[in-house]
Amino acid sequence: MITDLNKAVSLLKQSSYTSAFTGAGISVESGVPPFRGENGLWNKYDPMVLDIDYFHSYPLESWKVIREIFYEFFEGAKPNKAHEVLAQMEKEKLLFAVITQNIDNLHQEAGSKVVYEYHGNAQKLVCTKCGKYYKPSEVDLNNLPPRCSRDNVILKPDFVFFGEPIPEKAREGSMVEAVNAEVFLVIGSTGEVMPACFVPQVAKKNGAVIIEINPEESQFTHSITDIYLKGKAAGIMEEIAKKLWE
Ligand code: NAD
Repeated sequence: MITDLNKAVSLLKQSSYTSAFTGAGISVESGVPPFRGENGLWNKYDPMVLDIDYFHSYPLESWKVIREIFYEFFEGAKPNKAHEVLAQMEKEKLLFAVITQNIDNLHQEAGSKVVYEYHGNAQKLVCTKCGKYYKPSEVDLNNLPPRCSRDNVILKPDFVFFGEPIPEKAREGSMVEAVNAEVFLVIGSTGEVMPACFVPQVAKKNGAVIIEINPEESQFTHSITDIYLKGKAAGIMEEIAKKLWE
């Protein structure tokens, strides 16, 4: 396995089709902690609150924790250099798309246009009856659980709960990216979350060179990664940006 940043940059420059796959790690330097690992949120919260059957059975209990994690704790997070460089790469036609496991909207806030949100987005709430969407700021989260103004049904954050399917557009779009990619950037993902972890594997099977950025080795590192850049996303992407546009 290669660990050479210059080699990664030269591949990115030569590639006619690059896409990126991002996990919770890319947002850590924006102040959004991951779920797994040493400082992971699952050390503090019970993942059960994000199980869809639990949500439907105990919406108030589920909503209390969801509000704390996603609408209080994560609030105010801003994109970091890694999100920004990916957006700039897209603008300069060095990147086709970002497939993200994240639900924090930070790729879009950084300016990325083609974003496949594999696990949905916390910045939208949806009525499961009429399909109306709300921004979190449009509902009163002091009065839980929030309800649809049209039909009084409890609103659900528009991210994928455990037990829910992957949104079709993201599933299909990410497969197209994985099949087409010559170079596939994998940033800040453990590779443990199914079925998202299959996306980089499909890219590899279809001939893509996998460049991985992560301070810790992941499930990908010794299986599909070709170039492993050990380190935090923002710092490594800043180095890459300097060399891409020097
Ligand atoms: P994950 O697969 O997304 O992995 C997190 C990875 O980030 C780990 O491999 C860790 O080594 C790496 N990492 C930590 N700091 C980093 C840094 N500064 N730069 C680069 N990489 C870094 O696993 P998870 O955290 O358990 O998340 C599971 C799922 O939960 C995600 O797929 C996502 O859907 C959701 N989630 C989303 C957010 C978000 O929207 N920001 C945050 C937490 C969890």
